[in-house]
Amino acid sequence: MKAIAVKPGQPNSVHLTELEKPAVDAVANGRGVLVEVLEVGVDGTDKEINEALYGNAPEGFDFLVLGHESFGRVVEVGPNVRELVPGDLVAATVRRPGRSLYDQIGTYDMTTDTKYWERGISYLHGFLTEYYVDEPEYLIRVPSSLAHVGVLMEPVSVVEKGLAQAWEIQRRLKVWEPRRAAVMGAGTIGQLATLILRMRGLEVVTVARTPGPHLKSQLVEEIGASYVSSKSQDIRSIGKEHGPFDLVFEATGNSEVAFRSLEILAKNGILVLTSITGGDAEVTIPADRINLDFVLYNKVMVGTVNAHRGYFEMGVQDFALAESMYPGWLSKLLTNRVDGLDNYRELFRQLVDDRRAIKVYLGVKSV
Ligand code: BGC
Ligand code: ZN
Repeated sequence: MKAIAVKPGQPNSVHLTELEKPAVDAVANGRGVLVEVLEVGVDGTDKEINEALYGNAPEGFDFLVLGHESFGRVVEVGPNVRELVPGDLVAATVRRPGRSLYDQIGTYDMTTDTKYWERGISYLHGFLTEYYVDEPEYLIRVPSSLAHVGVLMEPVSVVEKGLAQAWEIQRRLKVWEPRRAAVMGAGTIGQLATLILRMRGLEVVTVARTPGPHLKSQLVEEIGASYVSSKSQDIRSIGKEHGPFDLVFEATGNSEVAFRSLEILAKNGILVLTSITGGDAEVTIPADRINLDFVLYNKVMVGTVNAHRGYFEMGVQDFALAESMYPGWLSKLLTNRVDGLDNYRELFRQLVDDRRAIKVYLGVKSV
């Protein structure tokens, strides 16, 4: 079967390769699930992997099959699988457990191992192929009523985890009633964070580079958030005009924005960092001022990565709610569909060049 792969360490190496179709008994104890891939999203991580800034090939291979945002259909299950049946629609988690304590209790997204296994990213082949086999533990059922947005389950799981971390940390305050949030970035993660914060009743300002109006700004405004361009106004003055913010969710992919965002937090506020930045940029920030404010006002900055199945399940619930609160809105994130594994060049071209794209994804098979 066909697969889209890169040679880690070799810039611009994306290519089409052949893999053997996996069998359901690739997983021990009759616990295998064979999934036919329907759609796979790509994001900044795939871009960085193809730029050789990130990513590792599985042991014994000199290539890595890409794709970590998957949506598929179960076609066969091993004799000891009770959780799923053929025909079920599923999204797969990305990381697989390593050795640390956190991995052993189902929270592999919190691993303290240095080496981590992630499908399509790190030491495990991904989903940009025709079939894959996995264990039921890593497959989350998506109701057929959400099939049209199933390819967004992995991105939303990352947002769910980030927000869950914020709320969990803020229990330190006994009472936390966040009113105002800023979301940095209006790509898929920024849009989804805006959505969920709006569904929780927060006032949201979504900040991204390009001045509106355009699709990204319209989508944000459709769900009652405001869109502000960081080209027209620097982050500090955005904070002065619209903030300060009880919660800032950073998803621009730019570490400078992450550190500038430290300046717009409210007292007791929390900054959630989600950008994967494979480069080595350096920035100068007003360190004394920021430090003093953090100390005097008990502020928090937290990094968050990946998601275990619980966060995917939250994503399914929030998507069901979103479809009733803002019918049709989620589908508008699916801006760039490319069909067929053969069209990997076009997939990457749109991912890299289309500044207006929100979600770029590959249709492997029609749903
Ligand atoms: C993926 C996460 C992953 C992270 C770090 C992100 O693009 O969505 O699942 O943990 O990259 O590799
Ligand atoms: Zn990702």
